[in-house]
Amino acid sequence: MKKTIVLLTVLAMMLALLAGCAPSAPASTELGSSQRVVILVLDALSSAYLNELGSNSNLAKIAKDGAARLDAQCVYPSHTLTNHATIMIGVSAGVHGIVGNVRLAEGSLSTTIKSKEPEMLNSTTIFELAKAQGLKTAVVSGKNNLVTLFSKDCDVGTSNVNRLDYLGDAPDLSEAEDDNQAYYEMNLELADWVFESLYTVLEREEPNLTLVNVQSADYVGHRFGPDSKELKTAVERIDKALGKMYNKMKKSGMLENTTLIIVADHGMTVTDTENDKSGINLNVLTMMNFPEAGAAIDGRTGYIWLNGTDKQSVIDFFSNVEGVAEIIERGSDRAKELSVDSVDGPDLILNTEAGYIFLPQPMVEQYHGQHGSLDESDMTIPMIMVGAGIPAGAGIEMTDLRSIAPLVCQLLGISGGSFEISVPTLLPQQDLTKFKK
Ligand SMILES: [Zn+2]
Repeated sequence: MKKTIVLLTVLAMMLALLAGCAPSAPASTELGSSQRVVILVLDALSSAYLNELGSNSNLAKIAKDGAARLDAQCVYPSHTLTNHATIMIGVSAGVHGIVGNVRLAEGSLSTTIKSKEPEMLNSTTIFELAKAQGLKTAVVSGKNNLVTLFSKDCDVGTSNVNRLDYLGDAPDLSEAEDDNQAYYEMNLELADWVFESLYTVLEREEPNLTLVNVQSADYVGHRFGPDSKELKTAVERIDKALGKMYNKMKKSGMLENTTLIIVADHGMTVTDTENDKSGINLNVLTMMNFPEAGAAIDGRTGYIWLNGTDKQSVIDFFSNVEGVAEIIERGSDRAKELSVDSVDGPDLILNTEAGYIFLPQPMVEQYHGQHGSLDESDMTIPMIMVGAGIPAGAGIEMTDLRSIAPLVCQLLGISGGSFEISVPTLLPQQDLTKFKK
């Protein structure tokens, strides 16, 4: 009798062990509802960085607790303001009108302005839709441009330089522009500030919809390069602050009625600073060869307004410039495929080859990393969602950032809005291999 009991116990233990090793049961693929949604944009946190974080990172644990797709896509041009507009509106660049981070100032052929004014948005944001249903909205950002761009229909907006008085002191990066080490350290501190401020704002203001931007992987990636030890540390520090906030949200019960959607707005590509021709001076080349045309530079993308200049001669000229990979003509099939033709948008959009950047050569040293192109390194991003309404252990079918706005509306029960694609389709299994070292 005793022997039988021992045998049964051993058998039970073996079964329990086996169950632990077996592939997990298929996850639910149904989206539920939520009272509060936080869209957390980890600026420039490329999918390529996930294996640096590894499968024991907080981000990997959060992915397991929720639904994940680690090779989702941003939209083109792969820039911050473009992709935040896409997240907040659910359409591509040509439709919302933020084609890249910059545009020419009115009447100028070379002076650029940031595309950060709310009136530059051609379509309805999910803030506007949320407000129409009496919901509360907020922006917490390490980049003030995003507070400005989405200031319309935003109840609570804060950044490090435009700070709510109940939030703690925040570093001002402009004070360290010329000091690499100080700039790096202040970026790490600012990312911590964003996470801490976000939690405070969520607790105190109880917004239903919050947009967040964590700037450090972008700024450190530009300055030191996506392959640098500084970038690796910046990403690890983000993971640490994220884990701390996530545990607080879990412990306080906040996660039971809050959905956290974590994405990046674009990736990053190494600039070849050893090559003394890696900087392509688009402004000067345009001015010298086509004096009527205007040009603006934006990392790995450049924009040209022809102003009557013969299009083919401009295309022929820049096709022969070292480092220019592609020229997209307004009205062409390619422009339609990428959906980049907007009302006052450029006539030509140029992409650089990997390693090249639209910048005067002496300035290249300041930009060891850049983005904007259609390359995988610039376009591939993680998409992770967790908390209220999200089944644990689910995968997500291939999608891009246009699916976030409809997702937010479905979770919060917001009607209206006209989106280009539908909510992300959940899958019964998730693939987290990108976290493997
Ligand atoms: Zn950037």
